[in-house]
Amino acid sequence: MECRFWRNIMPSTTRTKILATLGPASNSEEKIESLIEAGVDGFRLNFSHGTHEEHQKTFETVRAVAKRKNVHTTIVADLQGPKLRIGTFKAGSVTLKSGQKFTLDMKNEEGDENRVTLPHKEIFEALKAGDTLLVNDGNIILKVLKCSPQAAVTEVVIGGVISGHKGVNLPNSSLNISPLTPKDLDDLNFALKLGVDCVCLSFVQRASDIKEARKIIGKKAWIISKLEKPQVLDELDAIVKASDMVMVARGDLGVECPIVTVPVLQKRIEAKCRLYGKPVIVATQMLESMISAPMPTRAEVSDVATAVYDGCDVVMLSAETAAGAYPVETVKTMRGVIENVEADPKYLESVHHFAETASYNNESHAITHAASEVASTLSKVACIATFSVSGATTLLMAQERPCLPIMSINPSEEIARRLNLVWGIKTFIDKKVFESFDNIETVSRGFARISGLAKPGEHIVVTAGYPFGKAGITNVLHIVKS
Ligand code: PEP
Repeated sequence: MECRFWRNIMPSTTRTKILATLGPASNSEEKIESLIEAGVDGFRLNFSHGTHEEHQKTFETVRAVAKRKNVHTTIVADLQGPKLRIGTFKAGSVTLKSGQKFTLDMKNEEGDENRVTLPHKEIFEALKAGDTLLVNDGNIILKVLKCSPQAAVTEVVIGGVISGHKGVNLPNSSLNISPLTPKDLDDLNFALKLGVDCVCLSFVQRASDIKEARKIIGKKAWIISKLEKPQVLDELDAIVKASDMVMVARGDLGVECPIVTVPVLQKRIEAKCRLYGKPVIVATQMLESMISAPMPTRAEVSDVATAVYDGCDVVMLSAETAAGAYPVETVKTMRGVIENVEADPKYLESVHHFAETASYNNESHAITHAASEVASTLSKVACIATFSVSGATTLLMAQERPCLPIMSINPSEEIARRLNLVWGIKTFIDKKVFESFDNIETVSRGFARISGLAKPGEHIVVTAGYPFGKAGITNVLHIVKS
């Protein structure tokens, strides 16, 4: 259906959100403030780097700045996951020649040009002759000739210089390992105690990995599954359904899968997330050249634009903001791309359009879909208000990608901070309104007016689940006069 264009009601607010990784280049109070002003909606704490003390300080700084600026900035803890690494070399590094034999084993000795330690017995259990091992982001390729529980003899397909602690990827093998290593469990307990809003699980292989993590995380945080292994494609529906949010982690995905397939996988994952109403993050190398240059490449700008045109919820920055020379400029650039794409009338038309699926055959989807259509049809409607205790009613509306801004009115900051990272959502807190249905008109009107989303005489389309607090039921569609 043709969509009315965003009528410049909220010109300074975009729908696609920005998640920026914090690190030494950006974790000061002053930089965090500038990054929020430049357009960051959420920050990622990368537990592959840094100490607990450093993460705690950064966490507290973000919360303090967000409170001062009255914004619901999301904090995401990204766990390292089972990143497999080789041991060290006597000489620091060695050069492997194509065609030579090279052994990986469990010996506790420094390596040389014939062998190196790979201290992960689960790898030797999973490897078979013919499997490929990628070392150092896929720059060195090894083919397994034979494997025992203690060692794998390989042939070097592509050689090169190899130094200690380099990462190893196994694109063809499904490993019998949990995505939560002992380090992850320690980091997870720490992050949950801090009160992070979302937790990223790295190297998810199966839906059961997410269910395992859910036993520990419960409802304390959203689980973001990082999809970076080809095995996830076999269980994509189940993995997306089991997650609260999904990340297309293009860094490791581009090592584990042929790099030329990454754009296709990105679109496939994005479509699946839309189908199941799960917010999706597109990550890695979005504005990579801005780590050291004040201007990105044309191709990078196009890459961000493509993710936005695809209707993704979040675009992510990694080293650009964590360790780059231009963190604030990078966010401004990303924001500029988002603003330009979202101002294209074709944008809303294309993201709003969604082939109806069997998933609409329930009450909550039907009410939400109808509300989105009412908002498109009646010219007096200026915005949508969703009253959401668990976040479910708001997520359903975001899945519709409606033409008008979505207010999410929540009883708690915890839920507002999670929803802050979702497409098109502007969050507000009001605990009292959830005590009775009577005040929803006054509260929707109040927030719409304060935020400039509706002027007197304009209308607000409201959705809610009543009685309040029963997660997963959206059964109210109401029109409020502002
Ligand atoms: C990725 O691999 O794309 C990713 C986001 O993960 P990390 O930054 O932890 O390597």
